[in-house]
Amino acid sequence: GATKVPMSLLEPKAYINYQRIEDNLIVIRDRLKRPLTLSEKILYGHLDDPASQDIVRGTSYLKLRPDRVACQDATAQMAILQFMSAGMDTAAVPTTVHCDHLIEAQIGGAKDLERAKNINKEVYDFLATATAKYGLGFWKPGSGIIHQIILENYAFPGGLMIGTDSHTPNAGGLGMIACGVGGADAVDVMAGLPWELKCPKVIGVNLTDVILKVAGILTVKGGTGAIVEYTGPGVESLSCTGMATICNMGAEIGATTSLFPFNHRMTDYLKATKRDSIAEYAKRFQHNLKADEGAEYDQVIDIDLSELEPHINGPFTPDLATPLSKFKEAVEQNNWPTELKVGLIGSCTNSSYEDMSRAASIAREAHEHGLSTKSKFTITPGSEQVRATIARDGQMAALEEVGGLVLANACGPCIGQWDRRDVKKGESNSIITSYNRNFTGRNDANPATHAFVASPDLVTAMVFAGDLRFNPVTDTLTGADGKSFKFSDPSGNELPPRGYDPGENTFQAPPADRASVQVAVDPKSDRLQLLKPFQPWDGKTPTDLPILIKAQGKCTTDHISAGGPWLKYRGHLENISQNCLIGAINAENGEANKVKNQITGEYAGVPATAAYYRDHGIKWVVVGDHNYGEGSSREHAALEPRFLGGLAIITRSFARIHETNLKKQGMLALTFVDPEDYDKIRPTDKVDILGLESFAPGKNFALVLKHDDGSKEEIPLAHSFNEGQIEWFKAGSALNLMAKNAKK
Ligand code: SF4
Repeated sequence: GATKVPMSLLEPKAYINYQRIEDNLIVIRDRLKRPLTLSEKILYGHLDDPASQDIVRGTSYLKLRPDRVACQDATAQMAILQFMSAGMDTAAVPTTVHCDHLIEAQIGGAKDLERAKNINKEVYDFLATATAKYGLGFWKPGSGIIHQIILENYAFPGGLMIGTDSHTPNAGGLGMIACGVGGADAVDVMAGLPWELKCPKVIGVNLTDVILKVAGILTVKGGTGAIVEYTGPGVESLSCTGMATICNMGAEIGATTSLFPFNHRMTDYLKATKRDSIAEYAKRFQHNLKADEGAEYDQVIDIDLSELEPHINGPFTPDLATPLSKFKEAVEQNNWPTELKVGLIGSCTNSSYEDMSRAASIAREAHEHGLSTKSKFTITPGSEQVRATIARDGQMAALEEVGGLVLANACGPCIGQWDRRDVKKGESNSIITSYNRNFTGRNDANPATHAFVASPDLVTAMVFAGDLRFNPVTDTLTGADGKSFKFSDPSGNELPPRGYDPGENTFQAPPADRASVQVAVDPKSDRLQLLKPFQPWDGKTPTDLPILIKAQGKCTTDHISAGGPWLKYRGHLENISQNCLIGAINAENGEANKVKNQITGEYAGVPATAAYYRDHGIKWVVVGDHNYGEGSSREHAALEPRFLGGLAIITRSFARIHETNLKKQGMLALTFVDPEDYDKIRPTDKVDILGLESFAPGKNFALVLKHDDGSKEEIPLAHSFNEGQIEWFKAGSALNLMAKNAKK
């Protein structure tokens, strides 16, 4: 067979590197001398330095070399703006950008897409030109949802990918380790730096029977910091897209990712998506694409698929699961609104050809009995390819015939992009979706909406009853002829018998001549702004710094950089900085977003006060409590204080990812050597930080507190900077340093 096989038909010059896995594992096996799980084989097969990398599951940090990066349009904006500052002309690994999150569902696919193209024009223009400039693949609005496009075009067995979206693990259905990360990690990998991941624990899930009941997999609990690796004979009973669904939903139990071993179902899917050569190549290396005999897991869970019953999850949280047979009782006991207003199927989770075919089989049966849907019913195809194929093969007509509305190939109502008009805000009502998340307000911004989650089959059956208490397995419906009937088991082809119809071409490859491409950013835009490099350290000892805020208690990345309406400004650092720390509680007065300006003596919001100091040439510090910056990995939480002129964040302790993000942006992340010293800080103190001129790993600083009664105290501060990170601080940011090195 071929010795060079491209990762994707769309990237003929970027090859799969199975030989590296092979070579790395020789080194690793010699060191560890034990059988390896599949997760370990793929991860260690991508180590930057297999010979000296410290490997302890659950403890050490691995430096890895991912094969590729994927970004969705909401998170791509700041990631690419930052990458532009690195001074490189091409991303170091193949990278794609997907326009899926910003399309609002209102009246139907085509019109909604046109409206989104207008509303988001500046964002799409920026992404289209920046991807062209830096050699990234660009998937236009209407192409589909990131995870479906990855499965169809880019995922391959044994690959390692990072993506700036939490459901990136979807690609585990094709045997790839795919992890959701923040923009800062994506920028590192695009710029050629290794990616750091805490060496995951591995949970083995042994599937022992043959009947697919995906919903029950969600009952697996507690995946934090672990890869969920499926094994056992039951694996063979799952379709490739079914495996992708399970991996996608694994994000809901907090797993690092989920993973299936390479098998013939993956081969079928690779062939159906015209990637026969990858399937053959993977076969030659299949010894590296499954777990070793006797591999040890940190935990093993057995699931007998034949014993699982379909579940309905919710409302308000994905981990409240009720078996279908008990659901009617739960609805009545909890007084959940019984009328089912809307059923929604599709999204990145459940929109394969198989899912759509099964839903269509139910719709056809209802239609034969003269029924249309009682509830509203929407269908979101996961990709243009799925949409075009079900349009050609008749499933779409079957769904539309009974009243279904086909939405754009995009996230739509799953991420709150839903201009819902059938109920008023605050009105209690029920909806059911086949999406993966159902947090309060996520779909329609109405906190009174009870959102339930079920399989697409179940959702489709329920919209014909229009009532949450309906159990399609046991209950009957009355047809137009007055006769009652029960739904047959849904059925449908796993893969399209006539092959996929690619539909409209929605992919933009980087042009051959990229030098002449101008990146489009309108200087008047309120959603996008080019980044200016931060100033390097001035070499001076910082003295008399005011404390912007002494934050008390929990201060997560949501307190530091709020979401909701602010998401729109993710590509505009100046505008989004107006949310900086507005959720943090001021220890002085117990209030949020109300701090004393130490120069004027007036109370004002945190961002305005920070900007005042910055504009008067005064650097400032923030004091924080335990685990400061926990939550998401979003880099805005570190960019904003830096942009507003902060020098140091001093806490009892940091969440690790946020601490690293602060360092990357050129800020000092410092901790009290004695956490009790937090109490010595008075909000009106001015502080000096001593020791910067001899900044070295492991060497403490001294913090001088100048109280406003004239007294002084000195307390020690620790830091976790290594040599390289100290250079980031001196250069002003990691990207500044990178740009400096690129020029050399
Ligand atoms: Fe995320 Fe939903 Fe879009 Fe999937 S469909 S990527 S879960 S927003």
